[in-house]
Amino acid sequence: MLSRALRVTRNTRLLSTSRVLSSAPVNVNQKTASKLAEVTGPDGSLIGPGAKEGTIPTDLDQATGLERYEILGKREGIDVFNLDKPIFEGSGTMKDPYLVPTYIGHRYVGCRGKGGEEHKAYWLDVKEGTPARCWQCGTVYAAKYLGEPGHHHH
Ligand SMILES: [Zn+2]
Repeated sequence: MLSRALRVTRNTRLLSTSRVLSSAPVNVNQKTASKLAEVTGPDGSLIGPGAKEGTIPTDLDQATGLERYEILGKREGIDVFNLDKPIFEGSGTMKDPYLVPTYIGHRYVGCRGKGGEEHKAYWLDVKEGTPARCWQCGTVYAAKYLGEPGHHHH
């Protein structure tokens, strides 16, 4: 039950991050989002209401764009930029590679070994459709595209 709830949260985060990072034209005539689920893109939903006259604006009053998106995430306990370990699927073998989430079709991964045997970070460019193998420890990574379905990418 708990792991199911976690998965739902993760999917929400990934989808909305993808929306915010897309380069669609900005529409500013949108209602200010007061939580992540209300963010509709890099648009008016990420413009704060501003401070009331005679008061000093708080971050929530005046932050806009990606900064506001990050603040909204923090209020909900969600790290929108996913700075922690982003890989949570797979076991690193050729049959069951670690799945590396990406919004652009590829992502650099620093492999530091597995199973308690650590090595210096070895950087791999994990591309969609071609699993990447670490020469040091043999761990296998594959890209998992999370962007908009049908969105053009290389
Ligand atoms: Zn390795």
